[in-house]
Amino acid sequence: MQKVGLFLFNHDLRMDDNAALLLAATEVDKLICLYCVDNSKVGPGWQQPATLGPRRREFLFQSLQDLDRQLSHYGQKLVVRMESPLEAIAQLITAHNVSHLYSSQHVGTYEQRIWNTLQKRYTMLEFSQCYSHTIFEPSQLPFSLEQLPGSFSKFRRLVEKMDLDSIISAPLDAPATLPAPALVADMAWQTLWQDQFPESSGNLGQALFKGGASAGEQHLKGYFSRDLASSYKQTRNGLDGMDYSTKFSPWLANGTLSPRRIIQQLKQYETRAGANDSTYWIFFELLWREYFQWYGYKYQQQLYAFSGISHSSPTTSFYPERFKKWSAGNTPYAIINACMKQLNSTGYLSNRGRQLVASCFVHELGLDWRHGAAYMEQQLVDFDVASNWGNWQYLAGVGADPRGHRRFDLRKQAQIYDPDNQFVQRWAGEQTLQPLDSMDAADWPI
Ligand SMILES: Cc1cc2nc3c(=O)[nH]c(=O)nc-3n(C[C@H](O)[C@H](O)[C@H](O)COP(=O)(O)OP(=O)(O)OC[C@H]3O[C@@H](n4cnc5c(N)ncnc54)[C@H](O)[C@@H]3O)c2cc1C
Repeated sequence: MQKVGLFLFNHDLRMDDNAALLLAATEVDKLICLYCVDNSKVGPGWQQPATLGPRRREFLFQSLQDLDRQLSHYGQKLVVRMESPLEAIAQLITAHNVSHLYSSQHVGTYEQRIWNTLQKRYTMLEFSQCYSHTIFEPSQLPFSLEQLPGSFSKFRRLVEKMDLDSIISAPLDAPATLPAPALVADMAWQTLWQDQFPESSGNLGQALFKGGASAGEQHLKGYFSRDLASSYKQTRNGLDGMDYSTKFSPWLANGTLSPRRIIQQLKQYETRAGANDSTYWIFFELLWREYFQWYGYKYQQQLYAFSGISHSSPTTSFYPERFKKWSAGNTPYAIINACMKQLNSTGYLSNRGRQLVASCFVHELGLDWRHGAAYMEQQLVDFDVASNWGNWQYLAGVGADPRGHRRFDLRKQAQIYDPDNQFVQRWAGEQTLQPLDSMDAADWPI
């Protein structure tokens, strides 16, 4: 009997360094390559709907188009469904006699729940999941997941004691061939997409990033063909522009670029141009990302909990007016307004900008950090569940920060990182300065 496989793409939208896809390529006779845009998905374990912001949606669309193009070189095609994977897979299993299911491991609790439900429902099928989003596999870590260190510094020290050159494997090649598609005719998913997101056709203006593994590869090669990596540590706190930091995050987030591919290119750059503090610091930042992935695997639902991994809840609350002003860039803080307008317009914000807006959200506006994290989940083209929620927890003082909470002095930060007020001017941060509340504590208009 023919073996029919189904590969559920998620945050691994690429052909290379994709262990589960390589496995599928060798095990089955026919294959369905599936991606589900699940609009019914409710946000990260609590209230907020997880709709995609326009930039994030655009980036995803381009990534899927590129994946579809790459699959077509193998005589394959991408099947995109606008429904929950549970519904789509149930239908495909019945219609095509699917016997094997494949996907990459995902740290998100929603994605894990889907996979677990499938395993429980379809006990007669074979299930395979591989790691493709992280540098390491759990068995390569120098501790068990339960013993993941409580701070990044401890994690890094333990990881760096290992023989990293031999442990970090080279990225896997793309499969030489893929099994033929089990599903030949399916509605053009681009049409379904337009129906689902009619507003996508609106003009968003020039995007900073183009989605897809091809664009990701081009960006990676372009970055290391210049000498930017040699001064990364000095420039990385910039607020505006493409060159002060690597900008690998959008492609890393949806897996159109693999972290091991970046490390391979970084090593080659170091051999060619010399290693220094800056080239090391790129690896150091990738370890931060790695830490948050394992942190997410360890803490699961606690990643979205108000009290995080700590034992006490913050004293913050939810004030709709303040939230609205923060998200639109209408606060009393020009630097915050500029950052939020940049985020809303481009779908990207510098690391420094993210720290400032998160600190303002929690400490100046007294808002429940989860609403800020959920807002970034919608807007960021590089949204990554573990990095986003882990960083927010860290800044809200309920995460992996041994120092408690981090409150940034916004005036000082603006003086250091925007001394000539250029960033604030470019994003019109001052034009929208507003008092924090339109009512005082007794609800009198101010
Ligand atoms: C509140 C907040 C929310 C964040 N949300 C996300 C998110 O959803 N997705 C995301 O990828 N990053 C997130 N970050 C981390 C960081 O801001 C971005 O990874 C970085 O700005 C991306 O730009 P870059 O690729 O040029 O980074 P670079 O400075 O060039 O760093 C190289 C890579 O290292 C990793 N990295 C760097 N800093 C961090 C960090 N603090 N935590 C985790 N990984 C890091 C990223 O993969 C990045 O691409 C968040 C940070 C904060 C403070």
